[in-house]
Amino acid sequence: MLAPYALRAEESRGRRYPEAGHAYRNDFQRDRDRVVYSRAFRRLENKTQVFTRRHSDHFRNRLTHTIEVAQISRTIAAELQLNEDLVEALALVHDVGHPPFGHAGERILNVAMQEHGDQFDHNLHALRTVEQFEQRYADFPGLNLTFEVREGIVKHSRDYDVQDFPQLAEYLLDQQPPLEAQLIDFTDEIAYSTADLDDGVEAKILTREQVRREVPVFARLYEEVERLYPTATEKLKFNETLKRVLDRLVSDLIVHTRNQVSQSGVGSVVDVRKFAHRLCSFSAGVDQERRQIKDFLYQNVYFSPVLQRDKKQAEQVIAEMFAFFIKSPRELPASYQEKTRIEPLHRIVCDYVAGMTDSYILEQHRRFCSPKKKVGL
Ligand code: MG
Repeated sequence: MLAPYALRAEESRGRRYPEAGHAYRNDFQRDRDRVVYSRAFRRLENKTQVFTRRHSDHFRNRLTHTIEVAQISRTIAAELQLNEDLVEALALVHDVGHPPFGHAGERILNVAMQEHGDQFDHNLHALRTVEQFEQRYADFPGLNLTFEVREGIVKHSRDYDVQDFPQLAEYLLDQQPPLEAQLIDFTDEIAYSTADLDDGVEAKILTREQVRREVPVFARLYEEVERLYPTATEKLKFNETLKRVLDRLVSDLIVHTRNQVSQSGVGSVVDVRKFAHRLCSFSAGVDQERRQIKDFLYQNVYFSPVLQRDKKQAEQVIAEMFAFFIKSPRELPASYQEKTRIEPLHRIVCDYVAGMTDSYILEQHRRFCSPKKKVGL
């Protein structure tokens, strides 16, 4: 049972290369499955989310983060009667454009591209990945995903102006994305902000007591946990509280989005698209709590001295690899060399470097940039 404002698979604008339907999977289910079988998806396992595996085997990587986003997204979509298949496809594909080494990698790749008057954007790189780089099917290049999944890749987390991005004009940039895509920006943040508290403690960058002291929503829910489990270990009380924080964010997003949708009077996907603003959101109170968690993570985790060393090394490796391939394009794989006939070298080098996993770029860096010196990431 889908809500009238949910996006139905049979209403899809279809694929770039028309294909016959499948006997028992709809188009969004097929898109989800194509993402799962893609090489870019498998590489997520070896890409840093925030913490590198060197410190612990229990940290999220980009793949496990992605699976958590899919879990949260499906739960909310079901409750709001949105299209779960589309939401799952969007969640599973949402991070495939991320370069190695998390946000440090993204930032430095953008700096390298700016020197060539260009830029790096992980959403747009994800689009290039699914449209061009995946080569699995004899009938078409890329994954040939439906319009709605490609649109969601582009628009889930930010708006693009057609003036600045004329190549994206087909994605209805003057309209809102459907609710299924709007959801992903929120479920992504729910997943990483709760996970980063957990991993931050695991990394010993944070203490449980500090989280309790400095994150107001955590402090409040901890009181309830302490009443219920006075003799439990601190570790279990922390986990029980974190679970409640996640649940609070998810429940508020469901209730507030449902209210927004009903107050707006939208009765179809067309209405959602034409509405003045996005309808998916937290209530003001919970949005403030979300903000407090995020601020706490920025102040205590993302810029912590422990991670700075990793970040510096990551930036150095990416910057040097980028410069190396610009200077020595003949070291690029043949398929990438071929592409430099159609697009500028810096874009092709960027594509190649962005696609690498953490371990592969370190291996390449040892081979080409520091044959004697080992980079200790
Ligand atoms: Mg993400």
